[in-house]
Amino acid sequence: MKCGNKYCKETWDIHTNNRILKLHPTIQCSVKRFINEVEETYNMKIRITDTYRTYTEQDELYKQGRSKAGKIITNAKGGYSYHNFGLAIDVVEIKDKKANYDVSVTKKIAPIAKKHGLAWGGDWKSFKDYPHFDMTFNKTTEELRKLVKEYGDYKKIPLE
Ligand SMILES: [Zn+2]
Repeated sequence: MKCGNKYCKETWDIHTNNRILKLHPTIQCSVKRFINEVEETYNMKIRITDTYRTYTEQDELYKQGRSKAGKIITNAKGGYSYHNFGLAIDVVEIKDKKANYDVSVTKKIAPIAKKHGLAWGGDWKSFKDYPHFDMTFNKTTEELRKLVKEYGDYKKIPLE
């Protein structure tokens, strides 16, 4: 997708570029701009760790901290997360070849994400999800579940 913005190009990171391809086509350019503008502004290298998830993969994550070991990381079952429609990303900073999950990172980069139309999980009222950003197009996950059925593929849902 060509948008003409100077930041809409491949990012520094091959894993991030591959994961961006699994996002809904309508948000791919905005996400690239976000990652590239953060790099140019703060010299910070952001990696996307997660984009699209199937409903089954989401159900597995939901079990963590409930029927499975670990800490609760999501309140969304399969079909109830924007990740299930390719409309969400989770990020981490790569610093000295290590993952830096410090909240200060996402606090710092959230304004750039918002500039490119992404909402931040750190702004959520109850369960704060600091590494998470999404673009919902004012659609509920219920509406999106119906649209997936109607169009057969999350990437084909018309979103503007
Ligand atoms: Zn997320």
